[in-house]
Amino acid sequence: MGGSAVVVGAGIGGLAAAIGLRLAGWEVTVAERAPVLADVGAGISLHANGLRALDALGVGAAVRAAARPQYTGGTRVPDGSWLARMDGAALERELGTPIVGIPRAVLHQLLRAALPPECLVVGAEVTTVDRSDPRRVRVPLGNTAGNTAAKAAGSTAGNTLGSTVANTVLEADLVVAADGVGSRLRAQLFPGHPGPAYSGSTVLRAITERPVDLATDFELTWGRGAEFGHIAFADGRAEWHAVLNSPPGVRHADALEALRRRFGDWHDPIPRLLTATRPEAVLHHDIHELVTPLPAFAAGRVVLLGDAAHAMTPNLGQGACQALEDAAVLAAALAAGPTVESALARYDAERRPRSQSVARAARQAGRMGQRLAHPLAVAVRNTALRLAPSRATVRTILRHADWTPPALS
Ligand SMILES: Cc1cc2nc3c(=O)[nH]c(=O)nc-3n(C[C@H](O)[C@H](O)[C@H](O)COP(=O)(O)OP(=O)(O)OC[C@H]3O[C@@H](n4cnc5c(N)ncnc54)[C@H](O)[C@@H]3O)c2cc1C
Repeated sequence: MGGSAVVVGAGIGGLAAAIGLRLAGWEVTVAERAPVLADVGAGISLHANGLRALDALGVGAAVRAAARPQYTGGTRVPDGSWLARMDGAALERELGTPIVGIPRAVLHQLLRAALPPECLVVGAEVTTVDRSDPRRVRVPLGNTAGNTAAKAAGSTAGNTLGSTVANTVLEADLVVAADGVGSRLRAQLFPGHPGPAYSGSTVLRAITERPVDLATDFELTWGRGAEFGHIAFADGRAEWHAVLNSPPGVRHADALEALRRRFGDWHDPIPRLLTATRPEAVLHHDIHELVTPLPAFAAGRVVLLGDAAHAMTPNLGQGACQALEDAAVLAAALAAGPTVESALARYDAERRPRSQSVARAARQAGRMGQRLAHPLAVAVRNTALRLAPSRATVRTILRHADWTPPALS
């Protein structure tokens, strides 16, 4: 079964979905509201489930080659003592791979390289879809500044490579809403849903300007209501992130200086990571999540994927991995058919329970980790972690990472 699809959003989820749909024999147009694909972002870690999904999509080898395996590391407290160590080699024995770390920009580039450039339309915002015909979805492309278009499958306006797409309306057999945590299409499909909620945490992060001499591949350090972590990359640079309990919307005139004040007396290499960072490289976002689970991931011929479907807190490093799983499962379901409706029903049945349970687990991990602030609760948690058997960390990761994609026939 083939057809034409419009994917809304060229994030990790949307690009992966487009790759999968093309493998399943579909014609795909990806509509992205950003006028330029600027390749920003810090770093990302990918667990075995995300890597296996990438394998199913044919890009796993390229991502592994560009990523750095995370063999050594674990969780510490601000004075540097260890709460738990993570054994990447043990994880590799269990799952065939340790966790890997990669700059987001590189992951985006590798996903885009697996798509013909003409299927990407930038500067095209989709805020609504017309579902009045049950067999075709009409997708008006709004024009954000300076958009350019690739040839769009099923376009009623017949737009061609390099032309503008203002006011174009695409028609497709399927729309994949991969428009992120603030999804406009989710709000249209589920008007009674409350939408995303602020998690109570804000995150500042960056990639160092230069390589940093690190004793481990990755670390998390938990203080009271605060976390600092790093992931080392293949080129010796590292991404670091600082997560803080905070009201939403708090911003700093000099974010790096604010972080030096907050984390400057935490253990090595934290101050060195901050010193190796340019002030303008620091990104600051409040973390939102879908606390109320969606009742369905599909409505008619529109299907939700990635953060649009199940935005979760980053405490398990699973948000993008779940988006990649979505993409692999959607492609396999559509390839198997026999109808779009039956494929979307299978996608919903497979993806909703799993991704929503990972989202619950991520929230819980945050409550017991970064968000915990009461000194007594922090002391009890730290003692429990120090006493836990060394396999406990690996077992926790296996619970979510040991997933295998369906065959894409
Ligand atoms: C601090 C932090 C750390 C994280 N670390 C990890 C990690 O280590 N591992 C992991 O697996 N996950 C991690 N995640 C989660 C991961 O980043 C997300 O789950 C993932 O990026 C979601 O991808 P997406 O494509 O669904 O959404 P997005 O990346 O948000 O992409 C949505 C795209 O849609 C576009 N768009 C939005 N609205 C419209 C519209 N109306 N019309 C057209 N285009 C539109 C946007 O411009 C964007 O390009 C982390 C998240 C955070 C916040």
